[in-house]
Amino acid sequence: MLPLVYHDIYSNFPLPDGHRYPLQKYQLLKTFIEQQQWPVQSFEPTVLCSDKLKAIHHVDYVDALISGNLPLVKMRRIGFPWTPALIQRSLTSLGGTTLTVDKAIEHGVAIHLTGGYHHAHFDFGSGFCLFNDLILAANHALSYPEIEKVLIVDCDVHQGDGTATLAQDRSDIVTLSVHCDKNFPSRKPESDIDLPMPIGTDSDKYLREFIPCLTLALAQHQPDMVIYDAGVDIHTDDELGYMSVCQSGIAQRDNAVFEACKAHQIPVAAVIGGGYRTEQTALVPLHAELVRAALNTYYPHTEI
Ligand SMILES: [Zn+2]
Repeated sequence: MLPLVYHDIYSNFPLPDGHRYPLQKYQLLKTFIEQQQWPVQSFEPTVLCSDKLKAIHHVDYVDALISGNLPLVKMRRIGFPWTPALIQRSLTSLGGTTLTVDKAIEHGVAIHLTGGYHHAHFDFGSGFCLFNDLILAANHALSYPEIEKVLIVDCDVHQGDGTATLAQDRSDIVTLSVHCDKNFPSRKPESDIDLPMPIGTDSDKYLREFIPCLTLALAQHQPDMVIYDAGVDIHTDDELGYMSVCQSGIAQRDNAVFEACKAHQIPVAAVIGGGYRTEQTALVPLHAELVRAALNTYYPHTEI
């Protein structure tokens, strides 16, 4: 059974009307997966202890954000109004991240039905990201004695700027970001490997460039663990994406990542990442490709 990590709180915190964050997609995705009767097993995370965040972020930033004392201008950069429920949701999803890593190491693969907070930096958050779950996942994986190097493969359409800066002095965390070159964030600090794509990139070009890049990264760095951000905001109809990848292209991308990790016997913890549509039900089949790809790769004899 494929391990999935999910909590009802992911779609349950108050946002102002018309807010662009796709709050409902997590619940919609979970329900869709249940309806498919796929061989999956759900695990519910608990709240992460904030001490683990202080190994990544500035202590004052962690304390101020959790206690509701972050200056308004810094909250605006994150893009959410501060509420206790927002913090509870964030810390629960971060607990989900570490649980997903545990399950991936145990089973070879696990999927977190939220995550991908790659715009969170050392002492500030931005772009709907409070704390950086990808770096947290890498750090958590590195606490296992058999894991000495982690590769973060970030395929969200937005560049992983926070991840890049947080890992810049780390030899045990390698960052790969494939993203749209003319999209948020405007300033793009260097990842270990950046693969910028122009506006309008289609599935063929995307896969033609990404798959060899991934193959090379795995060969050069020989990671013991992969953290995979499978953002679907590369889709042609995404409202924040500017790229032109189709659903089949997303499926092929997700399959390629899992196939490569399985071939190298590298455990992979995947997060669903970004995906922005006013009609949030349209995001569900796109994110579900990640689950389908994991089932195809790791559980090939099951009916899906
Ligand atoms: Zn994104």
